[in-house]
Amino acid sequence: MSTVLELPVIRERGQREVFCGLTGIVWLHRKMQDAFFLVVGSRTCAHLVQSAAGVMIFAEPRFATAILSERDLAGLADANDELDRVVTQLLDRRPDIRTLFLVGSCPSEVIKLDLSRAAERLNGQFMPRVQILNYSGSGIETTFTQGEDACLCSMVPHMPKSTTATQELLIVGTVADVVEDQFSRMFDKLGVGPVRFFPPRRARDLPPVGPNTRLLLAQPFVGETARALMARGATLLSAPYPFGVNGTTAWLKAAADAWNVSDAHFDAAIAPNADRARLALERYRTQLEGKRLFMFPDSQLEIPLSRFLHEECGMELVEVGTPYLDKLMMDAELARLPDTVQLSEGQDVEKQLDRCRDARPDLTVCGLGLANPLEAEGLRTKWSIELVFSPVHGFEQAGDLAELFARPLDRARRLAV
Ligand code: SF4
Repeated sequence: MSTVLELPVIRERGQREVFCGLTGIVWLHRKMQDAFFLVVGSRTCAHLVQSAAGVMIFAEPRFATAILSERDLAGLADANDELDRVVTQLLDRRPDIRTLFLVGSCPSEVIKLDLSRAAERLNGQFMPRVQILNYSGSGIETTFTQGEDACLCSMVPHMPKSTTATQELLIVGTVADVVEDQFSRMFDKLGVGPVRFFPPRRARDLPPVGPNTRLLLAQPFVGETARALMARGATLLSAPYPFGVNGTTAWLKAAADAWNVSDAHFDAAIAPNADRARLALERYRTQLEGKRLFMFPDSQLEIPLSRFLHEECGMELVEVGTPYLDKLMMDAELARLPDTVQLSEGQDVEKQLDRCRDARPDLTVCGLGLANPLEAEGLRTKWSIELVFSPVHGFEQAGDLAELFARPLDRARRLAV
């Protein structure tokens, strides 16, 4: 166990190999069923979103790209007129859209297209039928999960002010609906409530926020959103993230303590679920125990997942990279990491690849672009993006989470046989 200041951190600001914030649209559009995401960008942006989200054949898609033409980019045409035309056409054709996000990109930032003014202008035309918000998913200075943080941040000023005199719990960060239902049942059993989730399933049903709001974060990449909610009076409950049995127990306990739930009631309420999760983990622990892990910085989930893999699966941590180290978000996690861990923040990809090759870890967690070359060099890899797309939170998913890391090792073992 360690404290933040004791842990050595390699800080790098070189070339990075990560997706941009547009990627968040993939899970955000599934979560908020009445929202539409209109990327204002180039053909590259359209390709990224399309290939990350897959092509929807049967359903009306809820994301698209308004492509900036060469005339827009050269400043020869007024991109605002074109944007107004595209938005009007879209909203005429799609009465089901209740919230429209204008999503900025590298090209829209380069030509300094002011999407907040565009949203203001279009709101004048379309409110109250459609609310138009904006955020940036540009990859210039961000990593891919920051797209969700920016999206949620854009909604915070529109959340109603909470007027209740008793405390209420707000879970922040997208989790799959099935996980949301499991957590709701568990909070109910504990006697913690009322509980709301942000983002909500319908973007227009924004939860209230105020001095009686207690925040519990489900994702470690929603730092700016947490700060914006705190600026509106909410209090952050510090806790590790709900990955694995220990993480989920500590996360639920933070809420239970705020609601003065007795230890005896807490232990009894979580026991059946925690016991099942321990059982599910056992089988993967035998495959992962003693294996050496190297995490490249990608999703911002690296620190909580390393904690889970070390504490509950017995893995040895070689290097744990994170795109950025946010103390407010990571305090409770860092305190649980072993003293021997090498943390790294940011990236200089060639140097980091060299460290990885020297260490020859048993498992490397990295982005898609690095995985294939490392596999060709005989290293076993796991795509970090899969960890964001899969339901991995809570007791019920603890076994599945461990399996995601055990699978590449199992495949290697079978191939060797
Ligand atoms: Fe590429 Fe930037 Fe568009 Fe992302 S926003 S796809 S990094 S051009």
